[in-house]
Amino acid sequence: MAKVIVIANQKGGVGKTTTAVNLAASMAATKRKVLLIDLDPQGNATMGSGIDKYGDVSTVYDLLVDEKPFEEIVEKETSGEYHLIPANGDVTAVEVKLMELFAREVRLRNALELVKEQYDFIFIDCPPSLNMLTVNAMTAADSVLVPMQCEYYALEGLTALMETITQLAKLVNPDLKIEGILRTMYDPRNRLANDVSEQLKQHFGEKVYRTVIPRNVRLAEAPSFGSPAMYYDRTSTGAKAYLALAGEILRRKEQVEVA
Ligand code: ADP
Ligand code: MG
Repeated sequence: MAKVIVIANQKGGVGKTTTAVNLAASMAATKRKVLLIDLDPQGNATMGSGIDKYGDVSTVYDLLVDEKPFEEIVEKETSGEYHLIPANGDVTAVEVKLMELFAREVRLRNALELVKEQYDFIFIDCPPSLNMLTVNAMTAADSVLVPMQCEYYALEGLTALMETITQLAKLVNPDLKIEGILRTMYDPRNRLANDVSEQLKQHFGEKVYRTVIPRNVRLAEAPSFGSPAMYYDRTSTGAKAYLALAGEILRRKEQVEVA
């Protein structure tokens, strides 16, 4: 049965999509069966997975609004070894359409219920806002993975996000957990980054992943080749960091299951 992990942060440009694509590819490389769901109308995770968002694709719009069968939407030929539910500009209309529909917060959860046993992990890449798409993701998820940059205002934003998650969880998904906090685009030579990183560990303790994602140009370049970094340059520090993250998530999961 798949574990559903939503990758969320209301801030844009913190590395959500980069994490979604590279973690999906890394987890798939460990022979887990992985599904990635792109919930952002920008379709960056779709393009980064080698699927043309301008091409003849079905999207989460078809899944959530039209209730088109999963098998007719899922893309199995991505540039990673994972499956993908794409997004593109059409997804912008989901928000408005859902307002007219019944059970609008649980549409994604219901759709995933039917396919959960086909996968070990389902990752969901969220838009940088708290809209009905994000609410659907939080409702469907077991846990939230929060990527963040260690900047001056990061902790404030993070505290606000944690509150939002707690509130939402109360309403729609009381079992929702914080999967972990991931430091992205990390530059160890930056003193502020080190300070913020220390504070983060003090506040959130074990929730902060030991794995740190460094600032690495290969991670930024790979999407323009429609590929996760590990298939673009597998020796890059970025590709290796996401493989390490997949390992850390698997080890944590085993610990919880044994306990
Ligand atoms: P979000 O999905 O949160 O908006 P992205 O994953 O799209 O963030 O990242 C924002 C930008 O930063 C993109 O251009 C991406 O390629 C780049 N980027 C993300 N992570 C890294 C990293 N670790 N090193 C270098 N560039 C990165
Ligand atoms: Mg994104």
